[in-house]
Amino acid sequence: MQITIIASGSGGNATLFASRGTRVLVDAGVGPRVLAQCLAAAAMAGARGSTSDCTSGSTSEWTPDAIVITHAHADHVGVAARYNKKHKIPIYASEATARAAHLGEPERVRLFSPREPFAIGALTFSPRPLPHDAAQVALVVDDGARRAALVTDLGEVPPGLLEHVAGCDVLMLESNYDEDMLDAGPYPQHLKRRIVSARGHLSNAQACALLAALPGGTHTVALMHLSENNNRPDLALAAARDALLGKRARLLAAPPRGPLVLDTAPPPGAARAPIAARQLGLFPGM
Ligand SMILES: [Zn+2]
Ligand SMILES: [Zn+2]
Repeated sequence: MQITIIASGSGGNATLFASRGTRVLVDAGVGPRVLAQCLAAAAMAGARGSTSDCTSGSTSEWTPDAIVITHAHADHVGVAARYNKKHKIPIYASEATARAAHLGEPERVRLFSPREPFAIGALTFSPRPLPHDAAQVALVVDDGARRAALVTDLGEVPPGLLEHVAGCDVLMLESNYDEDMLDAGPYPQHLKRRIVSARGHLSNAQACALLAALPGGTHTVALMHLSENNNRPDLALAAARDALLGKRARLLAAPPRGPLVLDTAPPPGAARAPIAARQLGLFPGM
């Protein structure tokens, strides 16, 4: 399974999962034209693994087979309604998300339960509720051979989340803010309180606590949804590196705008050696 992180952060989120002819976009933070440009850029950058799943179809606009919306915040719902109405592709969302967001024509909105796995083509999605100020889910995506987890927009790590993502080949995990930067930063107090609350976002330290507890089997960790005001990639990566030290994993930070291409197949050499400073990747793929 190939994963292309197209966008990650408060400016918009979109991650494409492709395997065995099925292409599903999780969150619609970019439209089909930007999606096409990102996929072309990923192909030109010589992304690892085959990009044929991603590059077939129009070069001016590119649509996936379906879109899954994680929750009803604007940086995730994005242009889902346009994909639905103009491009006539199904939009999957929980009932709470479908109630709270405009997702386009109701006949193309498919509801999923936040605790029940559902299939789209070759991919199975296993959701799990996350604590956030909108009904949010973590997603484990399984193509029958390998698994990847996408976990963003959570105020704290809920019980059972570690077990839900344990053993996934790829873990994409929110590392939203550095506590000191947020504290000293320009945000008004009510916004700071919202971010640090149990229904806000995950700090670097909170992400690290989960990473430190992660059992073996995960060969790639991508830090997601980094705040551009209250975090820096080097800070988030350094903290995560310490949490993962000695583990056999590749560590990356997703940029606000991709593409960042990951593969659920283990990388040839990187997974063999325990993580060390020299393996840090800063915004690769740009
Ligand atoms: Zn978000
Ligand atoms: Zn959110």
